[in-house]
Amino acid sequence: HRWSPTWTYLDGAWHEGNVPIMGVRTHASWLGTSVFDGARAFEGVTPDLDLHCARINRSAVAMGLKPAVSVEEWMALTEEGLKRFPADAALYIRPMYWAEYPGARTVDADAESTRWCLSLYEAAMPQPSHGTSITLSPFRRPTVECAVTDAKAGALYPNNARALVECHRRGFDNAALCDMLGNVAELATANVFMVKDGVALTPAANGTFLAGITRTRSIKLMRAAGIEVVETSLRWDDFRQADELFTTGNYSKVAPITRIEDRDLQPGPVFRRARELYWDFAHA
Ligand code: PMP
Repeated sequence: HRWSPTWTYLDGAWHEGNVPIMGVRTHASWLGTSVFDGARAFEGVTPDLDLHCARINRSAVAMGLKPAVSVEEWMALTEEGLKRFPADAALYIRPMYWAEYPGARTVDADAESTRWCLSLYEAAMPQPSHGTSITLSPFRRPTVECAVTDAKAGALYPNNARALVECHRRGFDNAALCDMLGNVAELATANVFMVKDGVALTPAANGTFLAGITRTRSIKLMRAAGIEVVETSLRWDDFRQADELFTTGNYSKVAPITRIEDRDLQPGPVFRRARELYWDFAHA
């Protein structure tokens, strides 16, 4: 595997390339006690970087890790790291915390052994002309009692990964996962919106899925621009009958869905306005 250009701040210095960080007995590599966040630099801007830096510290606390880096420190380090890339580079910005040692009873983690790093690496922005196809996954999001769903934890992703593998096998780009009540929660890698009669609808945050920073930002921007946005319980049938579908997430920001199961649909006016609003905000 060839990694794209990468810089990582670890233990007081910047390192180039894919720095090995986890030994064989590291708790995180064994039992998955790690949290991360994903922000972006693109077209010379880093929208909502402060919110991503705040969220990783909340994720650490939820996971029982000790967040040693302040939001201001994450931001300053990111600024430093950005200087190692071309000014207009499209980058993924990924802070991470993980546990080095197990706790006294081995399966739990020793919060005092929390380590951290900040990686920045090149990752092209997907083109808006690339529409995504989605299908319903047989897998579901865990409830708050079944997983640390209030952390952006690495350990939550194998469930989403198997949903992706399963949907790819059936010829789709992404999969929608329901919560345990059978309401649509999110896609495997992004939040999801539908439009019906000019109204934007999206699953109400209920703790089972990542109510993303891009989702919250887009809702605010759309409402301020006079678009009605409803956060509510939505079934897969509602999505199948939508006029428009789109995703929000750090990686692609606001992107169109152009096929749901066997039905093709076009990027619509509400999607287009939402994307434009996000870009205007990002460059403001
Ligand atoms: N859900 C999942 C599972 C994700 O991985 C992401 C991307 N971080 C999102 C939603 C969108 O969240 P955000 O807008 O904060 O990037």
